[in-house]
Amino acid sequence: MDKLAILGGPRAVKTDPGDMFKWPIITGEDEEAALAVLRRGAMSGTDVTVTFEKEYAEWHDMKYALAHNTGTASLHSAMFGCGIGVEDEIICQSMTFWASVLQAMNLGATIVFADMDADTLTLDPEDVERKITDRTRAIMVVHYLGHPTDMDPIMEIANARGIKVIEDVSHAHGALYKGRLVGTIGHVGAMSCMSGKSLAIGEGGMLITDDKKIYERAAAFGHYERTGQIEDPELKKFSGLPLGGFKYRMHQLSSAVGRVQLGHYQERMEEIQKAMNYFWDLLEGAPGIRAHRPPKDSGSTMGGWYAAHGIYVPEELDGLSVHKFCEAVRAEGVSTSPGANLLMHLHPVLNDADVYGDGKPTRIAHSDRDVRQGEGSLPVTERMTERVYTIPWFKHYRPEVIKAHAEAFRKVVTQAGELK
Ligand SMILES: *Cc1c(COP(=O)(O)O)cnc(C)c1O
Repeated sequence: MDKLAILGGPRAVKTDPGDMFKWPIITGEDEEAALAVLRRGAMSGTDVTVTFEKEYAEWHDMKYALAHNTGTASLHSAMFGCGIGVEDEIICQSMTFWASVLQAMNLGATIVFADMDADTLTLDPEDVERKITDRTRAIMVVHYLGHPTDMDPIMEIANARGIKVIEDVSHAHGALYKGRLVGTIGHVGAMSCMSGKSLAIGEGGMLITDDKKIYERAAAFGHYERTGQIEDPELKKFSGLPLGGFKYRMHQLSSAVGRVQLGHYQERMEEIQKAMNYFWDLLEGAPGIRAHRPPKDSGSTMGGWYAAHGIYVPEELDGLSVHKFCEAVRAEGVSTSPGANLLMHLHPVLNDADVYGDGKPTRIAHSDRDVRQGEGSLPVTERMTERVYTIPWFKHYRPEVIKAHAEAFRKVVTQAGELK
């Protein structure tokens, strides 16, 4: 085997990957759809959006889909839809993008973080159960970095107590959990479709549910133009103004592009799955690195593999730090970096910020106890920041290119001793 590039050897990746990593894939079809909206002056309407919602709902075999201008907004609406309000608690994982849950604080609720599973990087159902109190109103599960959360035990815990489950599907459009599409298992699913995500439409978010009450509350919250269609008498009397004081509808350039992207998504996602699974198959058995994906015959899949990561096991590499590991892989011509999202439970916004002038931190402004969680409170989550790293997110199945990238990782882990 060649000498490591970081020590002066040749790079494992020698050729330009071309459009291997380019995303989203935009063709004349997307351009035409966007231009048609511009030419009609229909950017602020809802006709294209309503069609997009119908197609999105059909894809998931759900009764309702409600499009939003961001994923953040769709998750906020989902929380309001579930009735989250003052003094309530919502359980979420700490390692995720903040918009999975931070919005709960401006509903007067607070956030309780549960630990995650070290293999799936999603909520650990046992710790969720430990974190439940009389005030728990909802569990926000995140199918993090594309990996489906273990939904069966979560639903069992939640249903036994009348707690709502919201699925943040922002990383996992099209992923399956035991054969079922994620986003359809909890009481409501919500997701970002901004341009970095695997279903990328510009800026935008989508909420899906079979529950009419959740749907109508979400519509009443930030979609004033739809309040006339609401049937629930409790909500109907407020028709005309949005209850939340928000304007959350989707820009129609996004819905137009979204319809085109959705039409190609299944096929593009399957190619990504083939490419990503091939990459990990090539690295099967390599010391120190593990695939972040469900077992092959589990019926679960990674969707479009958004922001793909690997699990790092430094004990198998003589304690080599993930930082040094990534540096060596980068020298081989592969883009990788250690870590994932900021841990929310250790961030000052969750601990110190008095956002609304309550005279105490917003996190505990409406709590009967101090729910803040210091260092050491989520041992697995905290440990995993030094045990994950990004891997290439291949958009095409091109075996030669994928092989060269996998070779870069294998080369580094088999010669890790040289890096001490
Ligand atoms: C991107 C993202 C969001 C927020 O979506 P936006 O469209 O950026 O507002 C929410 N949750 C997760 C897990 C995300 O990655």
